[in-house]
Amino acid sequence: MVATAEMPAAVLPRAILANLSVGIVGAGIGGLATAVGLAGRGFKRVTVYESAPEVGEVGAGIQVAPNFCRVLGHFGVFDRLKAQAVRLEGASVRRYSDNEQINSTSFASLEEEYGAPTYVVHRADLHKALLDRALELGATLQTNAHVEGVNFEKTELKLQGRPALSHDLIIAADGIKSGIRGQMMARRGEVDETIPTGEAAYRVILPRRVMESDPELKALIDAPIATRWIGPDAHVVAYPIKAQEAFNIVTTHISNTVGLTEDWTARASKDIMLKRFDGWTETLLKCLRLAPPGELVEWALRIHLPLTGWIDNHTVLLADAAHATLPHIAQGAAQAGEDAAVLSTLLAKCQTKEDIPAALRMYERLRKPRADWAVEMARITGENLHMADGAAQKARDEALKRAAAGGKSPDRWGDKDTQRRLYGLDVVKQADQEYARL
Ligand SMILES: Cc1cc2nc3c(=O)[nH]c(=O)nc-3n(C[C@H](O)[C@H](O)[C@H](O)COP(=O)(O)OP(=O)(O)OC[C@H]3O[C@@H](n4cnc5c(N)ncnc54)[C@H](O)[C@@H]3O)c2cc1C
Repeated sequence: MVATAEMPAAVLPRAILANLSVGIVGAGIGGLATAVGLAGRGFKRVTVYESAPEVGEVGAGIQVAPNFCRVLGHFGVFDRLKAQAVRLEGASVRRYSDNEQINSTSFASLEEEYGAPTYVVHRADLHKALLDRALELGATLQTNAHVEGVNFEKTELKLQGRPALSHDLIIAADGIKSGIRGQMMARRGEVDETIPTGEAAYRVILPRRVMESDPELKALIDAPIATRWIGPDAHVVAYPIKAQEAFNIVTTHISNTVGLTEDWTARASKDIMLKRFDGWTETLLKCLRLAPPGELVEWALRIHLPLTGWIDNHTVLLADAAHATLPHIAQGAAQAGEDAAVLSTLLAKCQTKEDIPAALRMYERLRKPRADWAVEMARITGENLHMADGAAQKARDEALKRAAAGGKSPDRWGDKDTQRRLYGLDVVKQADQEYARL
């Protein structure tokens, strides 16, 4: 059973919790999770600033790994998602050309081992659950609130067309394109550069009704399994979402059309997408052909090298702003959730404002090595999954087969050691223990 014991609000009626003014920049999964974490711990003055006129997420699925499930349980958010979530029973890795199953992993023991299984949900449901919970707990959201910059000495936010807003703490959860990270790095004489990986993603959601007439596709949406087809320069992840009423497909593929564009996206069509996967198994192509007609968006995937630090005075980076990742081990949002849980746990322990710098330093010390490592695991997994046919690919496939019986896997998402390290750590407990040692 997923631990749903919510984070206890601070035990003592400490004035700092009520009076500390926290400005969170960005209402993505990271920013909203932090708002939930802080408001749930008793912080009364939490404001989230979001550029967009409305908050929301792209229409796509997202995997909620056991470590993220645990955090959502602490936040009192998990139960709101459950009705729509699909609990994955396992994962299957298949060869791109003939659909041969190379590796199959059961997730039956995840809950026993780590206290939580893996779920898959629609991003919009996760986002809404976090937003509703944040507002219910008393956090404030300001939309149309574009932050132009930070005064790090004064802990002030500069918003378009408004006087500077003063806070006690600023949390920059402004995503991979984070302007605040750029400003922070420039102050250290560093250049802020996201790196085009050459990879891009298409996201497609199919309603159940379009799959039901084909027995093979019906079997795909009926099985609570994540299927990955792996091939040269690409792989595709697919699983049912929305209580198995919809089927989510995400491709990640090398693309020479999108990586360097200004807004990191390119318009594409179904025909272009189908051409890209020409020669792949008919099972996948049948799914892709069912994509709604019209334009598709191709998203460029970028990463960032590990930063030298996440803190500048009373401003701190969080989530993709701090550790943007490739999606190949499904840990971007999961690590964002862990950041939020750790930061809110540590801040709730501060007795006075003077304690905040030590809490921020501990947040960085606990979170940065782990998040940077997860980014590296995702990169390695992409490299391993995207091999061209040949000797190295055959050796990889043999390793994947051996991994099913417990060996080291080139696919870190399915690798037992990596899972132990990712899923086995209760970051809230760790933060509690570390703070007690101060
Ligand atoms: C194809 C793909 C699949 C993925 N699959 C998974 C998965 O299965 N599991 C998983 O855990 N992770 C997954 N991820 C990663 C996950 O989506 C991200 O890590 C996570 O959403 C990042 O959240 P964030 O809050 O840091 O950033 P974002 O979601 O980018 O949010 C940043 C917010 O800040 C706002 N903003 C930016 N600048 C400003 C400003 N100056 N002022 C005010 N507001 C501003 C933006 O408008 C935005 O709303 C995937 C990613 C991709 C690309």
